[in-house]
Amino acid sequence: MVELQGIPVSPGVAIGPALVLDADGYRIPRCLVAAEDAESEYARLRTAVDAVSAHLETSRLETTAVAGEETGDIFAAQLQMLHDPRLHSELRRRIKDQLQSAPYAVTRVLHHYASALRRLSNPVLADRAEDVLDIEKQLLMQLGAVAKQPLSELSEPVIVLSHVLTPSETANLDRRYVRGFCTETGGAGGHTSIVAKGLEIPAVVGIGAFMDGIGAASQVIVDGDRGKVIIDPDKATLESYEQRAQRRRSLTARLAELRDLPAETVDGTRIRLSANIEFPYETAAALERGADGIGLYRTEFLYLSSQQEPSEEDHYEAYSQVVREMNGRPVVIRTLDLGADKMGHRPLAEHEHNPFLGLRSIRLSLRNLDVFRPQLRAVLRAAVHGDIRLMFPLITTIGELRQARMLLNVVAEDLKDSGIAHRSDIPVGMMVEVPAAVVMLEHFVREVDFLSIGTNDLAQYTLAVDRSNEYVADLYQSSDPAVLRLIKQSVTVADKNEIPISVCGEMSSNPGRALLLLGLGVRHLSVPPSLLPRVKKAIRSVSIQQCKEIAQRVMTLEAARDVDLYLLDRLGDLVPELIVK
Ligand code: PEP
Ligand code: MG
Repeated sequence: MVELQGIPVSPGVAIGPALVLDADGYRIPRCLVAAEDAESEYARLRTAVDAVSAHLETSRLETTAVAGEETGDIFAAQLQMLHDPRLHSELRRRIKDQLQSAPYAVTRVLHHYASALRRLSNPVLADRAEDVLDIEKQLLMQLGAVAKQPLSELSEPVIVLSHVLTPSETANLDRRYVRGFCTETGGAGGHTSIVAKGLEIPAVVGIGAFMDGIGAASQVIVDGDRGKVIIDPDKATLESYEQRAQRRRSLTARLAELRDLPAETVDGTRIRLSANIEFPYETAAALERGADGIGLYRTEFLYLSSQQEPSEEDHYEAYSQVVREMNGRPVVIRTLDLGADKMGHRPLAEHEHNPFLGLRSIRLSLRNLDVFRPQLRAVLRAAVHGDIRLMFPLITTIGELRQARMLLNVVAEDLKDSGIAHRSDIPVGMMVEVPAAVVMLEHFVREVDFLSIGTNDLAQYTLAVDRSNEYVADLYQSSDPAVLRLIKQSVTVADKNEIPISVCGEMSSNPGRALLLLGLGVRHLSVPPSLLPRVKKAIRSVSIQQCKEIAQRVMTLEAARDVDLYLLDRLGDLVPELIVK
């Protein structure tokens, strides 16, 4: 049994057989060999290397004869790589010392080489990465490794283990079979984590290198509440986790009874409790959990989950479906938040050294009007079916807001001129997720109908900490006093100007932090559907006065850790039912 610690990002407990993915999202031939077989396994590799080498040499000679020496040199370069002494000593070490099977060692080492090459700024060397992967394929073929199978072809429950999973790969996981996942990289605020919550798949990220030690047919427990991953658990551990999973199921069943009750504090203050969604099908989960509306619809997932670039009609269909199903409840559609860790079908920006500080979100939309316009048209068209509100992400300057609003007006005029049914009077809001926007909020409030605080990015940009980077995950805390001061300041400005403000970042889905937000004056929270019942339970268990006292105390604290310990303590006193042991 091996116990690993990572970052808990999507709650719940999952137990099942391991399925290890390679860097391209394929299952890889993976297993360890018995110590007495290591020698013959290494010999098998040597034979495969000789065969690939002979094949490459034939290709080199034939190509040189037909297309000239320069073209033939492509194979000469591959031959050189194949015989690189460092490559061989690494393969030998993995097979003989770590008892890895030859196919597994080949995949791991060559993928490692390929990603190192891809990271080089020299484009010629970066292109060599493809050559390395080509060698990998040939070696695997010679080793008779099973043909790689795509992850989409699952037929039994699994726990996915991967070095990395992008938000779109996560979005495409087959929920029928993927019970949980864990990755070596990633941080709590990354969009992969957010998608995992949306899909209600327990997940742990940022574990660090661990996959090399996974034996064949390993069983895995993913503890998405505490960030633990247990490989090949012993009997006692397995039993205790099965019991915990059972206790969680009973809590979920009890909380389900709150569905039709309002999110109201004991003193009668009504809190709006909405749901965050990434996909139209999540409206069912939002309604099942009794959401008051959709507080954040992350529309960029329309791009990330489909094979082709969505058309205006695709946008229109998706938004119409959501607003119709929400049946009169408000739906806040956020315009595309592509870029950084959420890339679409074609590169909308050149290579960027600092993508989170680069051409992402509203900046990218404003520079790619052929992408932005169809979305805005679709939103205004779908608005005839219900209560749609439009929200712009990552607004940093007043100029951006004005540009976006102007484009919306132009699009509305076009629709009117063409006689296409639409609404042009929908409320327009912006996300408050950059410190500059908080500082200048007095000016922004004059030009928007509502605000929503995105604590995921607000924490990232306030604390100068990448939200999806495991190395600095401990610094990434929305409960950091600096972030809390910015939230408080935003609420004060919004209240003074009578502009509705909500919090739709992940912070609001943590029951303790949600109570703190109520104490800071927030009256509208938006959370992933799966976590909505817990937050509702917390709201229904406290008075606003108690929340204010929590906020008062918290605002005297100096560090996120102190804030969270205090909040956990108060939650234990006020809503003990939510603490699952
Ligand atoms: C946020 O930044 O808090 C937010 C809600 O948006 P996203 O997580 O999609 O960046
Ligand atoms: Mg954001």
